[in-house]
Amino acid sequence: MNFGILTIFPEIFDSFLAHGIIRRAIESGIIRVTPVNIRDFAGGKHRTTDDRPYGGGAGMVMKPEPLTEAIAHARKRIPDGIVILLSPQGRPFTQPLAQELALRNGLIFVCGRYEGVDERIYAHIDDEISVGDYVLTGGEPAAMVIIDAVTRLLPDALGGADSAESDSFSDQLLEFAQYTRPPVFEGEGIPDVLLSGNHADIASWRLESSLIRTLLKRPDLLEGKKLSDREKAVLKKWCRAVEQLISG
Ligand code: SAM
Repeated sequence: MNFGILTIFPEIFDSFLAHGIIRRAIESGIIRVTPVNIRDFAGGKHRTTDDRPYGGGAGMVMKPEPLTEAIAHARKRIPDGIVILLSPQGRPFTQPLAQELALRNGLIFVCGRYEGVDERIYAHIDDEISVGDYVLTGGEPAAMVIIDAVTRLLPDALGGADSAESDSFSDQLLEFAQYTRPPVFEGEGIPDVLLSGNHADIASWRLESSLIRTLLKRPDLLEGKKLSDREKAVLKKWCRAVEQLISG
């Protein structure tokens, strides 16, 4: 997977690219990440990438010429990439969208700054994505979020030690409760089943844990989910327990 990042602050990505799974994925050739400095495509002595908004008002707007030239440059380097404008006005970034993007060969991110980008660059944009209903000062953290979430879905990126299959949201469920050593912490132990070595019982416990956590923390995720017979049985068991509790 080829990632291109168009930004006026490419050095922001240095640390992000130099650690953990992202660094490993780069080293093993699973991903290639190319930050491109938009300023390199700006004309004039000062290489200006922004200007005052027509009509007045606060802040600056990113000029269209450097942006479109940087996009053309990135498209040449990543010919099968789609160009994504990062914007609070884009479609919401979710795990299903991460899975959709992971099927692509290349993603080119346009990171806005200031009050955003000149409207006329939309002719050069294939998609517009938001990482949440809040406003960041720039698209760079959003690009990192998407690159991170997409990379962990690529084959072999997690190196076999971890798995994205049971991650939260992968089946409209949150992930089950996790424990590691020590066996007792602040007087609290761990569920016996996790020490039983019985894989079927552990899988069953984990499914139950996933379902109940989702029900308690994010019931909206269960709306429209096609429940298996096993999942229905778990939820019925818990409903019965709650009914008994209420009726005393
Ligand atoms: N004035 C713009 C608006 O209200 O829609 C917000 C501009 S914001 C201060 C500057 C840049 O940060 C945007 O151009 C975009 O690239 C990025 N950004 C801000 N919030 C974002 C979000 N929720 N998701 C993705 N990118 C975001």
